[in-house]
Amino acid sequence: RKLGIALVGLGSYSTNQLAPALQKTQHCRLAGIVTGTPSKAEAWKQKYNIPDKNIYNYQNFDRIADNPDIDVVYVVLPNNMHTEYVIRAARAGKHVICEKPLAITVKECQDMIDACKKANRQLAVGYRLHYEPFTLEMMRLGQQKVFGAVKFVEASDGFKAGDPNQWRLKKAMAGGGPLMDVGIYAVNGVRYVTGEEPISVTAQFGPKTNPQKFKEVEETMFWQFELPSGAVSNSTTSYSAGVERLYAAAENGWFELRPAFGYGPLKGNTSKGPIEQPIVTHQAVHMDGVCKTLLDGQKLPDHITGEEGLRDVRLLQAIYRAAETGRKIDLKESGFVSKSPY
Ligand code: NAD
Repeated sequence: RKLGIALVGLGSYSTNQLAPALQKTQHCRLAGIVTGTPSKAEAWKQKYNIPDKNIYNYQNFDRIADNPDIDVVYVVLPNNMHTEYVIRAARAGKHVICEKPLAITVKECQDMIDACKKANRQLAVGYRLHYEPFTLEMMRLGQQKVFGAVKFVEASDGFKAGDPNQWRLKKAMAGGGPLMDVGIYAVNGVRYVTGEEPISVTAQFGPKTNPQKFKEVEETMFWQFELPSGAVSNSTTSYSAGVERLYAAAENGWFELRPAFGYGPLKGNTSKGPIEQPIVTHQAVHMDGVCKTLLDGQKLPDHITGEEGLRDVRLLQAIYRAAETGRKIDLKESGFVSKSPY
Protein backbone atom coordinates (compact mmCIF):
# COMPACT_ATOMS: atom_id res chain seq x y z
CA ARG A 1 0.00 0.00 0.00
CA LYS A 2 1.07 3.57 -0.71
CA LEU A 3 0.28 6.27 1.81
CA GLY A 4 -1.71 9.21 0.44
CA ILE A 5 -0.04 12.58 0.89
CA ALA A 6 -1.87 15.92 0.72
CA LEU A 7 0.31 18.94 -0.03
CA VAL A 8 -0.71 22.14 1.75
CA GLY A 9 0.45 25.23 -0.16
CA LEU A 10 1.16 24.87 -3.88
CA GLY A 11 4.07 27.28 -4.21
CA SER A 12 7.44 26.77 -5.76
CA TYR A 13 8.65 23.84 -3.63
CA SER A 14 5.42 21.85 -3.98
CA THR A 15 5.13 22.58 -7.69
CA ASN A 16 8.70 22.11 -8.83
CA GLN A 17 10.06 19.55 -6.36
CA LEU A 18 7.51 17.67 -4.25
CA ALA A 19 4.82 16.89 -6.83
CA PRO A 20 7.33 15.66 -9.45
CA ALA A 21 9.13 13.63 -6.75
CA LEU A 22 5.82 12.04 -5.74
CA GLN A 23 5.66 10.54 -9.24
CA LYS A 24 8.77 8.51 -8.36
CA THR A 25 7.95 7.32 -4.84
CA GLN A 26 7.25 3.71 -3.88
CA HIS A 27 5.63 4.12 -0.48
CA CYS A 28 3.51 7.23 -0.99
CA ARG A 29 1.58 9.08 -3.67
CA LEU A 30 0.13 12.51 -4.28
CA ALA A 31 -3.46 12.00 -3.11
CA GLY A 32 -4.71 15.48 -2.30
CA ILE A 33 -4.03 19.22 -2.29
CA VAL A 34 -4.90 22.19 -0.12
CA THR A 35 -4.84 25.57 -1.85
CA GLY A 36 -6.44 28.99 -1.60
CA THR A 37 -6.27 29.51 -5.36
CA PRO A 38 -9.08 27.87 -7.41
CA SER A 39 -7.08 28.09 -10.67
CA LYS A 40 -4.25 26.10 -9.08
CA ALA A 41 -6.72 23.51 -7.84
CA GLU A 42 -8.01 23.10 -11.40
CA ALA A 43 -4.54 22.86 -12.96
CA TRP A 44 -3.31 20.30 -10.40
CA LYS A 45 -6.51 18.29 -10.70
CA GLN A 46 -5.91 17.92 -14.45
CA LYS A 47 -2.17 17.37 -14.27
CA TYR A 48 -2.13 14.85 -11.42
CA ASN A 49 -5.58 13.33 -11.74
CA ILE A 50 -6.69 14.38 -8.26
CA PRO A 51 -10.38 13.74 -7.51
CA ASP A 52 -12.51 16.71 -6.38
CA LYS A 53 -13.15 15.08 -3.03
CA ASN A 54 -9.41 15.31 -2.25
CA ILE A 55 -9.12 19.03 -3.00
CA TYR A 56 -9.40 21.42 -0.06
CA ASN A 57 -9.03 25.12 0.61
CA TYR A 58 -7.82 26.73 3.84
CA GLN A 59 -11.37 27.09 5.17
CA ASN A 60 -12.66 23.54 4.68
CA PHE A 61 -9.25 21.91 5.30
CA ASP A 62 -10.33 20.40 8.65
CA ARG A 63 -12.78 18.13 6.83
CA ILE A 64 -9.73 16.18 5.70
CA ALA A 65 -10.31 14.29 8.97
CA ASP A 66 -13.07 12.34 7.21
CA ASN A 67 -10.98 11.46 4.16
CA PRO A 68 -9.38 8.00 4.29
CA ASP A 69 -7.40 8.70 1.08
CA ILE A 70 -5.18 11.10 3.01
CA ASP A 71 -2.75 9.55 5.50
CA VAL A 72 -0.15 12.31 5.66
CA VAL A 73 -0.44 16.09 5.42
CA TYR A 74 2.68 17.85 4.13
CA VAL A 75 2.80 21.55 5.11
CA VAL A 76 4.68 23.62 2.52
CA LEU A 77 3.55 27.14 3.47
CA PRO A 78 5.52 30.26 4.45
CA ASN A 79 7.30 29.67 7.77
CA ASN A 80 4.87 31.58 10.01
CA MET A 81 1.94 29.44 8.80
CA HIS A 82 3.50 26.05 9.61
CA THR A 83 2.24 25.90 13.20
CA GLU A 84 -1.44 26.44 12.47
CA TYR A 85 -1.59 23.86 9.69
CA VAL A 86 0.48 21.23 11.48
CA ILE A 87 -1.80 21.50 14.50
CA ARG A 88 -4.95 21.37 12.38
CA ALA A 89 -3.60 18.35 10.49
CA ALA A 90 -2.78 16.52 13.74
CA ARG A 91 -6.24 17.31 15.10
CA ALA A 92 -7.66 15.85 11.90
CA GLY A 93 -5.86 12.64 12.81
CA LYS A 94 -3.18 12.78 10.10
CA HIS A 95 0.56 12.23 10.33
CA VAL A 96 2.40 15.40 9.36
CA ILE A 97 5.49 16.36 7.43
CA CYS A 98 6.36 20.03 7.86
CA GLU A 99 8.86 22.06 5.91
CA LYS A 100 11.90 23.67 7.49
CA PRO A 101 12.28 25.71 9.60
CA LEU A 102 9.73 23.83 11.68
CA ALA A 103 8.40 27.17 12.98
CA ILE A 104 9.67 30.66 13.70
CA THR A 105 9.71 30.31 17.51
CA VAL A 106 10.70 27.55 19.91
CA LYS A 107 7.30 27.74 21.59
CA GLU A 108 5.49 27.11 18.32
CA CYS A 109 7.74 24.11 17.63
CA GLN A 110 6.84 22.73 21.04
CA ASP A 111 3.13 23.36 20.45
CA MET A 112 3.32 21.40 17.18
CA ILE A 113 5.16 18.52 18.83
CA ASP A 114 2.62 18.46 21.67
CA ALA A 115 -0.36 18.55 19.30
CA CYS A 116 0.98 15.59 17.31
CA LYS A 117 1.75 13.65 20.47
CA LYS A 118 -1.75 14.32 21.80
CA ALA A 119 -3.29 13.10 18.55
CA ASN A 120 -0.98 10.08 18.57
CA ARG A 121 0.35 11.06 15.16
CA GLN A 122 3.97 11.44 14.04
CA LEU A 123 5.61 14.70 13.01
CA ALA A 124 8.51 14.75 10.55
CA VAL A 125 10.49 17.73 9.28
CA GLY A 126 11.17 18.13 5.56
CA TYR A 127 14.86 17.40 6.13
CA ARG A 128 15.34 15.74 2.72
CA LEU A 129 19.12 15.48 3.19
CA HIS A 130 18.71 13.00 6.03
CA TYR A 131 17.93 10.32 3.44
CA GLU A 132 20.43 11.55 0.81
CA PRO A 133 23.42 9.22 0.23
CA PHE A 134 26.25 11.82 0.08
CA THR A 135 24.94 13.41 3.27
CA LEU A 136 24.61 10.00 4.96
CA GLU A 137 28.25 9.34 4.04
CA MET A 138 29.32 12.67 5.60
CA MET A 139 27.41 11.66 8.75
CA ARG A 140 29.22 8.31 8.80
CA LEU A 141 32.68 9.80 8.20
CA GLY A 142 32.19 12.36 10.98
CA GLN A 143 30.19 10.48 13.58
CA GLN A 144 32.25 7.29 13.27
CA LYS A 145 35.52 9.25 13.27
CA VAL A 146 36.73 7.57 10.08
CA PHE A 147 39.40 10.29 9.71
CA GLY A 148 39.80 10.62 13.49
CA ALA A 149 37.92 13.10 15.63
CA VAL A 150 36.49 16.10 13.79
CA LYS A 151 38.25 19.27 14.92
CA PHE A 152 36.76 21.94 12.65
CA VAL A 153 33.65 22.26 10.50
CA GLU A 154 32.90 24.94 7.96
CA ALA A 155 29.22 24.89 7.02
CA SER A 156 27.80 27.65 4.89
CA ASP A 157 24.69 28.10 2.78
CA GLY A 158 23.51 31.18 0.92
CA PHE A 159 22.05 32.31 -2.38
CA LYS A 160 21.03 35.50 -4.12
CA ALA A 161 17.41 36.21 -3.21
CA GLY A 162 15.79 37.90 -6.21
CA ASP A 163 12.27 39.29 -5.83
CA PRO A 164 12.34 42.14 -3.25
CA ASN A 165 8.65 41.57 -2.42
CA GLN A 166 8.82 37.88 -1.47
CA TRP A 167 7.72 36.64 1.97
CA ARG A 168 11.29 35.46 2.69
CA LEU A 169 12.24 39.14 3.22
CA LYS A 170 9.34 39.81 5.62
CA LYS A 171 10.24 39.15 9.23
CA ALA A 172 6.70 38.32 10.36
CA MET A 173 6.38 35.58 7.74
CA ALA A 174 9.91 34.22 7.54
CA GLY A 175 10.99 34.73 11.16
CA GLY A 176 14.27 36.21 9.90
CA GLY A 177 16.43 36.27 6.81
CA PRO A 178 18.79 33.74 5.24
CA LEU A 179 19.59 32.21 8.62
CA MET A 180 15.99 30.95 8.94
CA ASP A 181 15.78 29.89 5.32
CA VAL A 182 19.11 28.25 4.45
CA GLY A 183 21.44 28.95 7.38
CA ILE A 184 19.42 26.22 9.09
CA TYR A 185 21.10 23.68 6.77
CA ALA A 186 24.51 24.78 8.03
CA VAL A 187 23.35 24.49 11.66
CA ASN A 188 21.93 21.05 10.98
CA GLY A 189 25.09 20.10 9.04
CA VAL A 190 27.45 20.90 11.91
CA ARG A 191 25.28 18.78 14.17
CA TYR A 192 25.06 15.76 11.86
CA VAL A 193 28.71 15.74 10.85
CA THR A 194 29.98 15.89 14.44
CA GLY A 195 27.08 14.02 16.08
CA GLU A 196 27.37 16.66 18.80
CA GLU A 197 25.18 19.46 20.11
CA PRO A 198 26.78 22.95 20.24
CA ILE A 199 27.58 24.29 23.73
CA SER A 200 28.25 27.92 22.87
CA VAL A 201 27.66 30.36 20.05
CA THR A 202 29.06 33.70 18.90
CA ALA A 203 27.59 35.48 15.87
CA GLN A 204 27.85 38.63 13.78
CA PHE A 205 25.58 40.41 11.31
CA GLY A 206 27.20 41.32 8.00
CA PRO A 207 26.65 44.76 6.43
CA LYS A 208 23.45 45.60 4.56
CA THR A 209 24.46 46.55 1.04
CA ASN A 210 20.79 47.07 0.13
CA PRO A 211 19.08 48.53 3.23
CA GLN A 212 15.75 48.93 1.46
CA LYS A 213 15.53 45.26 0.37
CA PHE A 214 16.84 44.04 3.72
CA LYS A 215 14.80 46.44 5.86
CA GLU A 216 13.30 43.69 8.03
CA VAL A 217 15.82 40.84 7.92
CA GLU A 218 19.57 40.29 7.86
CA GLU A 219 21.34 40.14 4.51
CA THR A 220 24.37 38.15 5.67
CA MET A 221 25.33 36.47 8.92
CA PHE A 222 28.30 34.65 10.41
CA TRP A 223 28.37 32.41 13.46
CA GLN A 224 30.64 30.05 15.36
CA PHE A 225 29.82 27.06 17.56
CA GLU A 226 31.90 25.26 20.16
CA LEU A 227 31.13 21.56 20.55
CA PRO A 228 31.62 19.41 23.66
CA SER A 229 34.62 17.52 22.16
CA GLY A 230 36.49 20.79 21.62
CA ALA A 231 35.64 20.90 17.91
CA VAL A 232 34.65 24.31 16.54
CA SER A 233 32.61 25.43 13.54
CA ASN A 234 32.33 28.54 11.43
CA SER A 235 29.37 29.39 9.20
CA THR A 236 28.09 31.99 6.78
CA THR A 237 24.63 32.50 5.41
CA SER A 238 23.56 35.14 2.93
CA TYR A 239 20.82 36.34 0.59
CA SER A 240 23.42 38.14 -1.55
CA ALA A 241 26.07 35.53 -2.24
CA GLY A 242 25.94 31.95 -3.42
CA VAL A 243 27.85 29.81 -0.93
CA GLU A 244 27.23 26.11 -0.26
CA ARG A 245 29.79 23.99 1.49
CA LEU A 246 30.10 21.46 4.29
CA TYR A 247 33.74 20.83 5.16
CA ALA A 248 35.15 18.86 8.08
CA ALA A 249 38.80 18.78 9.11
CA ALA A 250 39.58 15.78 11.30
CA GLU A 251 42.72 14.52 13.03
CA ASN A 252 43.86 12.42 10.06
CA GLY A 253 42.23 14.01 7.03
CA TRP A 254 39.33 16.02 5.69
CA PHE A 255 36.02 15.44 3.91
CA GLU A 256 33.58 17.78 2.29
CA LEU A 257 30.47 18.27 0.18
CA ARG A 258 30.35 21.11 -2.29
CA PRO A 259 27.55 21.71 -3.16
CA ALA A 260 26.24 20.37 0.12
CA PHE A 261 22.64 21.44 0.64
CA GLY A 262 20.88 22.11 -2.68
CA TYR A 263 18.68 19.74 -4.65
CA GLY A 264 21.71 18.04 -6.14
CA PRO A 265 23.56 16.39 -7.52
CA LEU A 266 25.78 16.90 -4.47
CA LYS A 267 29.51 16.34 -4.87
CA GLY A 268 31.87 14.97 -2.24
CA ASN A 269 35.59 14.75 -1.75
CA THR A 270 37.98 13.62 0.96
CA SER A 271 41.73 13.74 1.61
CA LYS A 272 41.73 10.13 0.34
CA GLY A 273 39.72 10.71 -2.85
CA PRO A 274 36.19 11.42 -4.06
CA ILE A 275 33.01 10.31 -2.31
CA GLU A 276 31.10 8.00 -4.67
CA GLN A 277 27.38 7.67 -3.99
CA PRO A 278 24.24 7.22 -6.07
CA ILE A 279 22.48 10.37 -7.23
CA VAL A 280 18.88 10.39 -6.03
CA THR A 281 15.88 12.70 -5.97
CA HIS A 282 16.13 14.05 -2.42
CA GLN A 283 12.42 14.66 -1.98
CA ALA A 284 11.50 11.16 -3.19
CA VAL A 285 13.89 9.33 -0.85
CA HIS A 286 12.80 11.56 2.03
CA MET A 287 9.06 11.03 1.59
CA ASP A 288 9.59 7.33 0.90
CA GLY A 289 11.79 7.00 4.00
CA VAL A 290 9.24 8.70 6.23
CA CYS A 291 6.26 6.84 4.74
CA LYS A 292 7.92 3.41 4.86
CA THR A 293 8.50 3.94 8.58
CA LEU A 294 4.86 4.96 9.05
CA LEU A 295 3.63 2.00 7.00
CA ASP A 296 5.75 -0.34 9.13
CA GLY A 297 4.14 1.13 12.24
CA GLN A 298 7.58 2.20 13.50
CA LYS A 299 8.67 5.37 15.27
CA LEU A 300 10.46 7.86 13.03
CA PRO A 301 14.19 8.20 13.79
CA ASP A 302 14.76 11.03 16.25
CA HIS A 303 16.83 13.06 13.77
CA ILE A 304 13.89 13.54 11.40
CA THR A 305 11.17 14.37 13.96
CA GLY A 306 9.70 17.59 15.27
CA GLU A 307 12.21 17.45 18.14
CA GLU A 308 15.02 17.74 15.59
CA GLY A 309 13.29 20.72 14.02
CA LEU A 310 13.00 22.29 17.47
CA ARG A 311 16.72 21.74 18.21
CA ASP A 312 17.64 23.68 15.09
CA VAL A 313 15.14 26.51 15.68
CA ARG A 314 16.46 26.87 19.24
CA LEU A 315 19.98 27.26 17.84
CA LEU A 316 18.80 29.75 15.20
CA GLN A 317 17.30 31.86 17.99
CA ALA A 318 20.53 31.62 19.99
CA ILE A 319 22.51 32.76 16.93
CA TYR A 320 20.29 35.84 16.60
CA ARG A 321 20.69 36.58 20.32
CA ALA A 322 24.47 36.25 20.10
CA ALA A 323 24.62 38.64 17.14
CA GLU A 324 22.23 41.14 18.72
CA THR A 325 24.08 41.24 22.05
CA GLY A 326 27.59 40.81 20.65
CA ARG A 327 28.18 38.27 23.42
CA LYS A 328 29.08 34.64 23.48
CA ILE A 329 26.00 32.65 24.51
CA ASP A 330 26.68 29.70 26.78
CA LEU A 331 24.06 27.20 25.67
CA LYS A 332 24.64 24.89 28.62
CA GLU A 333 23.94 27.71 31.06
CA SER A 334 20.72 28.55 29.20
CA GLY A 335 19.67 24.90 29.53
CA PHE A 336 19.73 24.61 25.75
CA VAL A 337 21.85 21.55 25.15
CA SER A 338 19.87 18.41 24.44
CA LYS A 339 21.10 14.88 23.85
CA SER A 340 22.36 14.36 20.31
CA PRO A 341 19.96 12.28 18.19
CA TYR A 342 22.89 10.97 16.12
P1 NAD B 1 6.45 29.85 -2.13
O1 NAD B 1 6.30 31.31 -1.83
O2 NAD B 1 6.85 29.47 -3.49
O3 NAD B 1 5.08 29.10 -1.79
C1 NAD B 1 4.32 29.40 -0.67
C2 NAD B 1 2.88 28.99 -0.92
O4 NAD B 1 2.10 29.37 0.19
C3 NAD B 1 2.26 29.65 -2.15
O5 NAD B 1 1.56 28.69 -2.89
C4 NAD B 1 1.30 30.65 -1.58
O6 NAD B 1 0.17 30.85 -2.40
C5 NAD B 1 0.90 29.96 -0.28
N1 NAD B 1 0.35 30.89 0.70
C6 NAD B 1 -0.77 30.68 1.40
N2 NAD B 1 -1.02 31.71 2.20
C7 NAD B 1 -0.05 32.62 1.98
C8 NAD B 1 0.19 33.90 2.50
N3 NAD B 1 -0.59 34.46 3.43
N4 NAD B 1 1.28 34.55 2.05
C9 NAD B 1 2.10 34.01 1.14
N5 NAD B 1 1.91 32.78 0.61
C10 NAD B 1 0.83 32.09 1.03
O7 NAD B 1 7.45 29.28 -1.05
P2 NAD B 1 8.25 27.89 -1.13
O8 NAD B 1 9.61 28.17 -1.66
O9 NAD B 1 7.43 26.86 -1.77
O10 NAD B 1 8.43 27.59 0.44
C11 NAD B 1 7.40 27.04 1.22
C12 NAD B 1 8.03 26.34 2.45
O11 NAD B 1 8.87 25.31 2.00
C13 NAD B 1 8.90 27.25 3.31
O12 NAD B 1 8.75 26.92 4.65
C14 NAD B 1 10.31 26.94 2.85
O13 NAD B 1 11.27 27.14 3.87
C15 NAD B 1 10.18 25.48 2.50
N6 NAD B 1 11.14 25.05 1.45
C16 NAD B 1 11.90 23.95 1.68
C17 NAD B 1 12.79 23.52 0.75
C18 NAD B 1 13.61 22.28 0.98
O14 NAD B 1 14.54 22.03 0.22
N7 NAD B 1 13.29 21.49 2.00
C19 NAD B 1 12.93 24.22 -0.45
C20 NAD B 1 12.12 25.32 -0.68
C21 NAD B 1 11.22 25.74 0.29
